[in-house]
Amino acid sequence: MEFIDLKTQQTRINDDLRLRMNRVLEHGQYIMGPEVAELEKALAAYVGVKHCISLSSGTDALLLPLMALGVGPGDEVIVPAFTFIATAEVIALLKATPVFVDVEEKSYNVDPEKLKAAITSRTRAIIPVSLYGQIANIAAIQAAAGGIPVIEDAAQSFGATHNGKRSCSLTSVGATSFFPSKPLGCYGDAGACFTDDDDLADLMRRIRIHGQERRYYHTHVGINARIDTLQAAILLAKFQVFPDEVERRMRIGERYSDLLRGSCEVPFIEPGNTSVFGQYTIQVDDRETVQKKLQAAGVPTAVHYPLPLHLQPVFRSPHLPEGTFPIAESAARRVLSLPMHPYLSDVDQDQVVSAVKDALSVRA
Ligand SMILES: *Cc1c(COP(=O)(O)O)cnc(C)c1O
Repeated sequence: MEFIDLKTQQTRINDDLRLRMNRVLEHGQYIMGPEVAELEKALAAYVGVKHCISLSSGTDALLLPLMALGVGPGDEVIVPAFTFIATAEVIALLKATPVFVDVEEKSYNVDPEKLKAAITSRTRAIIPVSLYGQIANIAAIQAAAGGIPVIEDAAQSFGATHNGKRSCSLTSVGATSFFPSKPLGCYGDAGACFTDDDDLADLMRRIRIHGQERRYYHTHVGINARIDTLQAAILLAKFQVFPDEVERRMRIGERYSDLLRGSCEVPFIEPGNTSVFGQYTIQVDDRETVQKKLQAAGVPTAVHYPLPLHLQPVFRSPHLPEGTFPIAESAARRVLSLPMHPYLSDVDQDQVVSAVKDALSVRA
């Protein structure tokens, strides 16, 4: 059993995938070829926003809106303490200060009350993370933010909805990743930003190509953050089956919860939300033992994430000792992600579930 099976999907879309990749090899426009615009149009329509700016990675999708907003030294950007490093890394890269906030116990997403208390006159942006595939509490976050721009880190939640609106459409900017293991993944690194703001979109498009307004005429300091045409072609093929895969993810996630509820802490999905289960993550006591037992039973697992950001060596500070963000710290000790992908069979899932139950009961 694989933690994430990408092969079954490849077999399913094989003909279309090869056709689209071959077309790129034939036209030879490897940078900003026609597939890039085609992908952006399709994804913007799917998300329900005016602009999609496709990019070289999810990390760049977080960096570009901050650059476009002019975030720099002396500025603060608020992020949850419990997320992947990239969410905060891009802030530090711009010599601004990531301000960490604890998360909610049930959703693992940033706590809007604590976020409100962390806002200062220097807060230039807020990056809530839609962790494990469920959109963060955007309404409460927007209310707390006042007019401060909110950038959704939707790397794990592409395809999820809140009251029928899709992830990446609910804030000033939505940023997602197409890393192979994400809900919509390519065969390399890529990502995208989504926005309804014409000016911000224009600026991010420029920054993506060295701050260039027209060829060899540069108005801003930018970077090279373009998606490869080949990856855009791959994503177009994968996008054909994506809505079906989202349905499958939801069904498999719900089935996990139905089977595991009572044995361990299963994901809590807020009313009005759907999750794409970018990860299917439970909480257990004595995680290391459980993980070893699962490994022995042939069930691969992963930990997202073993260390909250304020305890990462790169961000450690005497002002934020252990104990500062107790919920993030507890989650980091207890979370365990189980095999999750749209093609997980009931048989395999039953095997995972019984192995989890065995591991938990033997321990007790
Ligand atoms: C994967 C991920 C990113 C970074 O995306 P890349 O495409 O790997 O650069 C950022 N934030 C979160 C929450 C992620 O899971």
